[in-house]
Amino acid sequence: MSAVPAAVPASHTALQHILYDKIDPAIVRITLNRTDKHNAQDTRFLYELNAAYDRAAQDVDVKVIILAANGKHFSAGHDLSGVREKDTVYAQFPHVGTTARALQGAPGVEGRIGYEEEAYVGFCERWRNIPKVTIASVQGKCIAAGLMLAWPCDLIVASEDAQFSDVTVALGICGVEYFQHPWEFGTRRAKHMLYTGDAISAQDAQQMGMVSEVYPRDELAARTLELAQKIARQPQFALKITKMAVNAAEDAKGRLNAQSTAFALHHLGHGHAKEVYGAIINPAGMHASVRATSKIGKT
Ligand code: ZN
Repeated sequence: MSAVPAAVPASHTALQHILYDKIDPAIVRITLNRTDKHNAQDTRFLYELNAAYDRAAQDVDVKVIILAANGKHFSAGHDLSGVREKDTVYAQFPHVGTTARALQGAPGVEGRIGYEEEAYVGFCERWRNIPKVTIASVQGKCIAAGLMLAWPCDLIVASEDAQFSDVTVALGICGVEYFQHPWEFGTRRAKHMLYTGDAISAQDAQQMGMVSEVYPRDELAARTLELAQKIARQPQFALKITKMAVNAAEDAKGRLNAQSTAFALHHLGHGHAKEVYGAIINPAGMHASVRATSKIGKT
């Protein structure tokens, strides 16, 4: 592991849920390592991941970042078991996309949307635009907000057992906060995925262009590294501007506007649920969601 760049606060070296390894002068591997929760994402997990991305972005030698996961599954999505240690996390890591007032318990929609603007959509957009090539290496289940870790990456490599799903319509909302489904699959398959909550296999995801390569589980790490090494032979600035050019093409087609609309509708869903059920998600849907995520330990 290389020395920490001076611009990165020392606190970023003490990560609990994320591993950071410089495995080659030009390649960093960031590993999701909250395996006892199937890499479910709480506030600390997300801020630590953001800090790891920042560290890699600020390393002048790094060209490619691999986002991998330890454990059976890539990610079970957001940790719905409750809010913990937000104040400690905010003290350790800087805000990046919203106001302190919104993050520190502003009442009503202000606090709710402020948190999601920063820790959900804000982080995803930052990671999508990071000036390095990023490759997600996905095994097992990638549920709901798990997609919000894989989708911001430039490329996705998957194992044969990988499955991608978004079960949030059952919760009364219109998909996860980072709403890329139509861009990843096309509009009809996006609707099918969302309306049913059914998972998409690695093979189908490859056919639809979301996944670049599919390998047996025991080859996933080595093959992902091979791909990273191949890309790392290209000139760094050319990789950066190529990424910017392709991302600009997607945004010229209206991605960011569509994302903004979907996020506003997502909060309409949260607001409706809060008025009707007293909770920001439909409690009836929690059973479906918990079923989907609890099964993952047994498969
Ligand atoms: Zn939400």
